[in-house]
Amino acid sequence: MSGDRQGIGMTSARTRDRLVRRLMEQGIRSEAVLNQIRNVPRHLFVDEALASRAYEDTALPIGLGQTISQPFIVARMTEALLAGFEGEKVLEIGTGCGYQTAIMAPLVKQIYTVERIRELLTKTRQRLRELDIYNVQFRPGDGWEGWPKYGPYDGIIVTAAATTVPPKLLQQLAPGGRLIIPVGPKGRQDLCMIVNHPERFEQVSLGPVSFVPLVQGK
Ligand code: SAH
Repeated sequence: MSGDRQGIGMTSARTRDRLVRRLMEQGIRSEAVLNQIRNVPRHLFVDEALASRAYEDTALPIGLGQTISQPFIVARMTEALLAGFEGEKVLEIGTGCGYQTAIMAPLVKQIYTVERIRELLTKTRQRLRELDIYNVQFRPGDGWEGWPKYGPYDGIIVTAAATTVPPKLLQQLAPGGRLIIPVGPKGRQDLCMIVNHPERFEQVSLGPVSFVPLVQGK
């Protein structure tokens, strides 16, 4: 059995089903999202030493001071993003290990993802390719700037906490599009959903969260 990281035990179907049941109990309804949580091998996104904990509903360290997000939060953000989604293009800020990216990938046409730590981006690009995910474009850079070249985006998802909503992300949001973003200082972050209506931006709170900060500047 040794060396079989895809195999038995901690990565078994039973372990994954338990996680999915837990997320359902916590209110995740989208079948598409729950299927993705069941199918994406989260143990391949963390260090081998932490693989036995990969299907716990908890954030874990991925090195360089960053974390892989808690599955419940990934599911919640993806569900909120896709509930209003009629378009094709999603901009993601804070690629990290690419778990959130992998959860979204088959559910949207194209993902554009921005990460400030190059080293992470290189590893993540490779990892997603190994998982046969090809509809993602990667960019090293500052998420506060968004990625104007391919905008506007039908959905924008930010997986690090901003002090305020970055104005450039609002500018890159398509009509009817929605931005999902944690906003606020450490210990008092709120997950916000902002919808781009014809005359105004509507802001809805999705509850308290805890993310690493969206760093200002490169
Ligand atoms: N999406 C990941 C979680 C990422 S953690 C997952 O699915 O698990 C947050 C990431 O945001 C980190 O990798 C961090 O380097 C990145 N980040 C922080 N500030 C940033 C900025 N200004 N621009 C781009 N990426 C940033």
